[in-house]
Amino acid sequence: MRAHRHIAVLGAGIMGCSTALFLARRGVAVSLFDEAGEPFTGASRWNEGKIHLGYLCSADSSLRSAQHVLSGSLLFGKLTEELLDTSLDGVITEQDDLYLCHRDSLVPADDMAHYLAQVSSLVRSHPDAGKYLVDASQARARQLSRTELNATTGADEISAGFHVPERSVETNWVADRFLQAVAAEPRITLRLGERVLAAQPQGNSVHGRWTVATDLRQPEHYSEVINALWHGRMGVDQTAGIAAAGVWSNRYRQSLFLRTRQRVRTPLRNYCHRPLRRHQKLQ
Ligand SMILES: Cc1cc2nc3c(=O)[nH]c(=O)nc-3n(C[C@H](O)[C@H](O)[C@H](O)COP(=O)(O)OP(=O)(O)OC[C@H]3O[C@@H](n4cnc5c(N)ncnc54)[C@H](O)[C@@H]3O)c2cc1C
Repeated sequence: MRAHRHIAVLGAGIMGCSTALFLARRGVAVSLFDEAGEPFTGASRWNEGKIHLGYLCSADSSLRSAQHVLSGSLLFGKLTEELLDTSLDGVITEQDDLYLCHRDSLVPADDMAHYLAQVSSLVRSHPDAGKYLVDASQARARQLSRTELNATTGADEISAGFHVPERSVETNWVADRFLQAVAAEPRITLRLGERVLAAQPQGNSVHGRWTVATDLRQPEHYSEVINALWHGRMGVDQTAGIAAAGVWSNRYRQSLFLRTRQRVRTPLRNYCHRPLRRHQKLQ
């Protein structure tokens, strides 16, 4: 890459911070924008941290959704450890995830069992299956027996349960390491507290082929712009003349976070098993 490139990365969630780190470590100057006061205040910090292998997408029996997420998820741990220069050991959930099937599920239990078996086969045949958070090269979904299901949930509404070899990472821990990594990178200039309003192409201007305008500054020139704004992305894309590719949906969830002096065991799965476990997530 040419040394004089100066790239604006819009949005300092996991996408923007990862991109900024990759670029900076290849010698590129990066300005990293976020309207919040620090990186990682949004979905990237507060999501469930599940590194999806595709088991969740049983409503898409074509397996396209599973194929879409699989390659990136298998390499998530390796790439993240490389970016953060630290091991994820200890912030990965210890047990296989459990999927429960509601009796009114759009995907009936038998179809779900079939779908999960297909995903397992997809995972096993992937060349990077051994590089997942745990070795997934022997991935299998296992249906709970009736006794196991009753011991797990007494709810009549649940018709079946399946263990799948999916894991989650502790997102607060990961977020904090990203903050440190970005702060330690001299080629990244943080532009926090600035709302990006527009990114526009400028033809072949010698000052840079793109401008970025924010609520605080006049348009500034950059050689390229990478839009990682998540919920803000489409509005800024439009200012660059890029039309929305399709219908956009947003997911909102309310969560309750408690701080306790000691570990709390809930009947739900345990997300945290390091010191941060004081933040027990209830859903
Ligand atoms: C409740 C919930 C649970 C989820 N669970 C999972 C899961 O288990 N596994 C999984 O893989 N994914 C999960 N996801 C999805 C995952 O969180 C997102 O795909 C991921 O965090 C997106 O990262 P990002 O960097 O693109 O966006 P974000 O983390 O949202 O970062 C975008 C940044 O852009 C900034 N921004 C937006 N507009 C502007 C603007 N105009 N100017 C300046 N800054 C702006 C925001 O402040 C934000 O910091 C979940 C999402 C939600 C909401």
